Amino acid sequence: MPFPTYAICDLFTSVQGEGGMVGRPFVFLRFWGCPLSCPWCDEPRHRDPAFRRMIALDPLLDAVERQTPGLKQLLLTGGEPLAVHHLDRFVSRLKERGWWVAMETSGIGGAVPDALDWITLSPKTPLPHFPVERASEIKFILGAEPDPAQETLIQWWRERHPALWLQPRWDGPSFPTLAAQRCLEKVLASNGRLRLSLQIHKWMGIP
Ligand code: SF4
Repeated sequence: MPFPTYAICDLFTSVQGEGGMVGRPFVFLRFWGCPLSCPWCDEPRHRDPAFRRMIALDPLLDAVERQTPGLKQLLLTGGEPLAVHHLDRFVSRLKERGWWVAMETSGIGGAVPDALDWITLSPKTPLPHFPVERASEIKFILGAEPDPAQETLIQWWRERHPALWLQPRWDGPSFPTLAAQRCLEKVLASNGRLRLSLQIHKWMGIP
């Protein structure tokens, strides 16, 4: 089998700022590239060739190990981790080394690796073929303006998963008050079915 290589753009340590893992420290690995092009994407570096770095499997594993010695929690993000070739091989090798591995995904890409410990799914469309039982939580990013298509999408997922988060979208450097108000109103009217996620890392000005 050929030695796989991976396109990455960031490796750093921080705390997870959103969703059910909020406050938990992780090594973050941001893969380069995504099959989608959401107009409000807040990670433009994943599509900028200047930030694309190719690295083979073993050097990547070693770089992850060296990032913060003793911290064995890794969060895969992007770009789109699920679109990464040989993702399952990378995750399996991490598990052999004792890592707890989480992933953030839009659900668009390849097969979901069996060995993942936590999956945050942030769907942009219905995903009738996604193994919904593998998603630990579902997250939606809401802007300030009503979006009927997104309302329909949230309803589609409400019927399929118990843990849904609504999170206001930052369109600039300031806290998105109007979007947060929209999220809050929906959460309070949901009879406990929805939860509010605020990105604490943005408040703190950390990655
Ligand atoms: S799926 Fe995520 S990473 Fe990809 S373009 Fe959309 S917001 Fe950006």
